Amino acid sequence: MATINDHYLKLKAGYLFPEIARRVNHFATEHPTANIIRLGIGDVTEPLPEACRMAMVQAVHDMGDRATFRGYGPEQGYSWLREKIAHHDFQSRGCEIEPSEIFISDGSKCDSGNILDIFGKHNSIAVTDPVYPVYVDTNVMAGHTGEANGHGTYAGLYYLPITAENNFTAAIPPQKIDLIYLCFPNNPTGATASKEYLQSWVDYATAHKSIIFFDAAYEAFITNPDLPHSIYEIPGARDCAIEFRSFSKNAGFTGTRCAFTVVPKGLTAQALDGTGIELWGLWNRRQSTKFNGVSYIVQRGAEAVYSPNGQAQVRALVDFYMENATIIRNQLTTAGLTVYGGVNAPYVWVKTPNEISSWDFFDYLLHHTHVVGTPGSGFGSAGEGYFRISAFNSRKNVEEAMERVITNL
Ligand SMILES: *Cc1c(COP(=O)(O)O)cnc(C)c1O
Repeated sequence: MATINDHYLKLKAGYLFPEIARRVNHFATEHPTANIIRLGIGDVTEPLPEACRMAMVQAVHDMGDRATFRGYGPEQGYSWLREKIAHHDFQSRGCEIEPSEIFISDGSKCDSGNILDIFGKHNSIAVTDPVYPVYVDTNVMAGHTGEANGHGTYAGLYYLPITAENNFTAAIPPQKIDLIYLCFPNNPTGATASKEYLQSWVDYATAHKSIIFFDAAYEAFITNPDLPHSIYEIPGARDCAIEFRSFSKNAGFTGTRCAFTVVPKGLTAQALDGTGIELWGLWNRRQSTKFNGVSYIVQRGAEAVYSPNGQAQVRALVDFYMENATIIRNQLTTAGLTVYGGVNAPYVWVKTPNEISSWDFFDYLLHHTHVVGTPGSGFGSAGEGYFRISAFNSRKNVEEAMERVITNL
């Protein structure tokens, strides 16, 4: 009989969002008239920028004409998109990133999981706690961990706690770790990283020949001019970091699907015999073999993000969500809660009142305000006692939700 990848059996059965759905559905059945407002899942709500839609409509027409029709595109993405990304997102910020170092994909979630294909089985791996669950689960699937305990903490992973005490920025570990996942602006805590802080990680990675996986899915939400948008703004990062970027949150592409990964040339890791091998070549081989590129239409939509109209429309979209975040922060503070994040990031990370548990606060809000958020403990045991509220919603829903919270706390 065929056998399975047994590592999948170690996965905690998608505990967080299914459990939220179960509790919300149960409540909705018992209270059919309740107007439930969901500030839980991190999906965008506002429509695609007009510039992106127009570009995609034009691309559809291109596909209808033999002269402009496109079949398979380059697995790495079209050069016109890679050039615009290199110029706007990196070179304009002083980062030496070339178009050939940018690999267009259908999502950062996929890329951050797929990247493990090109790494060995015996790396030590660090994630923050709380964490974006994809980093953990993809390592479980790849067989890089042992079993999970009752808190969903896996043996064999190195967890770096991030709490109010360390400003939600993990301390540099005392020992050598080979692969480190960092996400700034952070999901779920909304924390940001200064240049000095990222420099300390780059120094660490350089000293230990480690690789940093830097997830910058939320870089567009940064407004403070002192904060780095890319890890490549940090000297030395080209030699120790891979960066993940996405059009999901800045341009509302969660359903349209386009992202990219930056693998600098010259960045190496060791083969079994000790020789340094360029990761660029391995990722290029991996993508050319297992991936056939993002649709021409979608890449044209992503390209339009960099047009003058696209830039203005994306800015307006991001500003809109950040105004929501400000409303959430202000109202929750007025309600007497301690809040973090929500500045330079679309997530507000709330300390639960009176030390109650994350799930108790979830139930309280659901029952008394019909507002749904995400229990912090679902992102890791150090998230216990916190609660995530997302700024991705309509203004009306955010205002109404905050009004209810303020009058019921
Ligand atoms: C939303 C999100 C992404 C983007 O994923 P896509 O697959 O590109 O939609 C990446 N990382 C984090 C932490 C996110 O929250």
